[in-house]
Amino acid sequence: MTPDARGYFGSFGGRFVPEVLIAALDELEKATAAAFADAAFWNEYHAVLRDFVGRPSPIYQSERYTAAVSAVPLVLKREDTNHTGAHKINNTVGQGLLARRMGKSRLLAETGAGQHGVATATVGAKLGLPVDVYMGARDVERQALNVHVMRLLGAQVHAVSSGTQTLKDATNEAFRVWAERIEDTFYVIGSVVGAHPYPYLVRELQKVIGVEARRQVLERYGRLPSDVVACVGGGSNAIGIFAGFLDDPEVSLWGVEAGGEGAGKNAASLGAGSVGVLHGSRSYLLQSEDGQVLPTHSIGAGLDYPGVGPEHAYLKESGRARYVSVTDAQAIDAFHEFARSEGIVPALESAHAIAFARILAAERGAHDLILVNLSGRGDKDLGAS
Ligand SMILES: *Cc1c(COP(=O)(O)O)cnc(C)c1O
Repeated sequence: MTPDARGYFGSFGGRFVPEVLIAALDELEKATAAAFADAAFWNEYHAVLRDFVGRPSPIYQSERYTAAVSAVPLVLKREDTNHTGAHKINNTVGQGLLARRMGKSRLLAETGAGQHGVATATVGAKLGLPVDVYMGARDVERQALNVHVMRLLGAQVHAVSSGTQTLKDATNEAFRVWAERIEDTFYVIGSVVGAHPYPYLVRELQKVIGVEARRQVLERYGRLPSDVVACVGGGSNAIGIFAGFLDDPEVSLWGVEAGGEGAGKNAASLGAGSVGVLHGSRSYLLQSEDGQVLPTHSIGAGLDYPGVGPEHAYLKESGRARYVSVTDAQAIDAFHEFARSEGIVPALESAHAIAFARILAAERGAHDLILVNLSGRGDKDLGAS
């Protein structure tokens, strides 16, 4: 669905930002509408995805991972094969092209685990646009390899040493810098979060996953999947693959959140959170009774975020998608099992989806088909697992 004129999916979304950013969001909304209506924009986007990213990514039927528990075909959408190793590049390519079209001369991004920073730095280098990345000082230390890659790609990485020195502080700082430099700077958001039009813009740029996967599954199997499974941090890889199947009511959609170490130590915003406002939009988030954002935890660094995109909140309320969670321990088991049985090392984030797919497989048979979004590869996670 398209959000309404004020940027709402049902009662979720909107724009909760300081006045100074409203003009910039209006400008972005107009530019987005114009670009999306222009075949030249999509032609360029698809050409870059083909030649630089390596799309279409293949689908691949798992041979062994679920064979002992079920005869259901388990089919993976291989976003791990993309340049830079995950789905995030689909989004940064689109926003980079949009920035250039708008005449912006620099890109600004915040990053937690560093994956979105790397994807933005990659596109900045490719398009010749300077990139400033804001990152919590603790994350700069914890994610030294990604910081090194960003710098190699020519990006300036700024360590933010306020607050908890993590993603939410980096986001606050990036917003502050954006407000000062709205004229020449494009803010590249990394998931389907933030103020309108970002959740819609990022959804449309990640939709390529679901559109390709639907066509590929139909071509190879002659039927639609019974179930589509994806992990949910901010929600962009999940919305991207769900978007291909929203109009197929017979396809069940499953979002898998980070159950972490259980109650009080997780990042399951939809499962364990409540409705509120975070980073510019109304959605579910992990907050205390008086509205303070709670600390989160997940072994999957990209899932470790206290909020979730507003369209997921809407899909949860409408019942069109269901949201479950998988613990750190289950995800780590799946990470090892999957690597050994398939010859693919998944990202720990993706391992959450893979773990749930096996639970679901036990309830499905040969006439069904489970499609899992393998959002990224796991090289980055070797230290954590
Ligand atoms: C960033 C990331 C995620 C989580 O982000 P979403 O916006 O929820 O998709 C999931 N998987 C991988 C591999 C990531 O890098």
